[in-house]
Amino acid sequence: MRNEPNFVYVGHPARVIFGFGTTRRLPEELTRLGAKRALVLSTPAQKAEAETLLALLGSSGAGIFAGAVMHTPVDVSESATRHAQALAADVIVAVGGGSTIGLSKAIALRTDLPQVVLPTTYAGSEMTPIIGQTDKGVKHTQTTLKVLPEVVIYDVEQTLGLPVGMSGTSGMNAMAHAIEALYARETNPVISALAIEAVRSLARALPVIAGAPGDRDARADALYGAWLCGICLGSVGMALHHKLCHTLGGSFDLPHAETHTILLPHALAYNAPAIPAVMARLEAVLGAEPCGALFDLARAIGAPSALSAIGMPGDGIERAAAAALANPYWNPRPLEKQGITDLIGRAFSGARPVIA
Ligand code: NAD
Repeated sequence: MRNEPNFVYVGHPARVIFGFGTTRRLPEELTRLGAKRALVLSTPAQKAEAETLLALLGSSGAGIFAGAVMHTPVDVSESATRHAQALAADVIVAVGGGSTIGLSKAIALRTDLPQVVLPTTYAGSEMTPIIGQTDKGVKHTQTTLKVLPEVVIYDVEQTLGLPVGMSGTSGMNAMAHAIEALYARETNPVISALAIEAVRSLARALPVIAGAPGDRDARADALYGAWLCGICLGSVGMALHHKLCHTLGGSFDLPHAETHTILLPHALAYNAPAIPAVMARLEAVLGAEPCGALFDLARAIGAPSALSAIGMPGDGIERAAAAALANPYWNPRPLEKQGITDLIGRAFSGARPVIA
C-alpha cells in the first residue's frame, strides 16, 4: 500500500468465468440461476453468434433479439423488453460489445431479469452498474445495481475475430478507465493495483494483436486487462478524459472508442502536473513518459490520432471547450479555459500531447 491510508473501496458482486472455450459453460450457468427460458441478444452484425448460443442452450433457449444498436435508444430497449415478456424469458443472455450489453442492462432495468453476458470487445460495460440510455437524441446516464450482470463469461475465443482496428481502439478505451481510476477522487490502493495490472496487460497485448490478431496469448492478456479496466470504471468516478469523450462524442456524434483513443494522451497530459505520483507509476509500467507512450501506442496499433479524421468539425474546438467548462465536475487539476481549448486543439489536429 502506498500513501493512501484512509479510503473507501466499493466492490460489486459478479460471478466471472474466464478462459478459452468458456462459452460452453453457458448452459450450466443458466441451471445455477434456475433459468429455463433465455432471450439471447446481439447486434444485427453478430446474429450468427446469438444463433450459436441459442443452439447451445437447446430447450433453455426461448429466442433471439438481434437488434442492439449504439447508445441504447429507449425505443429499441422497449421493443426488446416486450419481446422478452412475450417469450416469458426468465434470463437475458447477451453476446457482444458495449452496445449489446447496454441493451441487456436496459431490459434488466425494466424487468429485473438476471443477465449472463459474454463480452466480445474490451469496452468493460459488463463490470459496471452504469447504464446510459438515449431518449430523443439525449443520453441520460444512471447508476444502479439493477443493471449489473449477475454472470460474466469471458471467452477469449469470442474476441479472436474482433477486427484489428476495433481491437486497438477498444483496448485503448479500456485503458482510459484504468488510467482515470488512478487519479479518481475515490481512488484507493485496491483499484489502483488493478488499474496498473490492467495497463500493463493491455500495453503489452495491443501491439501484438495489431500485427497478429489471432495471437491467443495476447488476446487473453487483452481480455484480462479489459476486465480489470471494467472493474475500475464501475468502482470509482471518472474525470476530465471521460467527460471530454462524453461531450465531444455527444456533440459531434463521434465514434466512441476512437474518441477515447485520441483524447487519452492529451487529457492525461493536462492532468499530469497535478498527479506526479500517478505519472511515476504509469512511467514504470509503460517504460517511458506516459503521455507520449500512449500517443505512440495508438500510432503503433494503427489507430486514428486526430479528431479531425473521425468527423469533428474545425469550428467545434471552442464549442467543445465551452461545453466541458459549462458543467463543472471533479478533476485533479482545476479546469482552465485556455488549457482545455489547447488540449482539444491538439487532439483535433493529431499533434503530440504537451504537458504544460
Ligand atoms: P459496440 O458494442 O457498439 O460494437 C461495435 C460493433 O462491433 C458492433 O457492430 C458489434 O456487433 C461489433 N463487434 C463486437 N464484437 C465483435 C467481435 N468480437 N467480432 C466482430 N465484430 C464485433 O462497441 P463497444 O465499443 O464495445 O461499445 C460501445 C458502447 O458501449 C458505447 O455506447 C458506450 O457508451 C457503451 N459503454 C458503456 C459502459 C457502461 O459502463 N455503461 C462502459 C463502456 C462502454
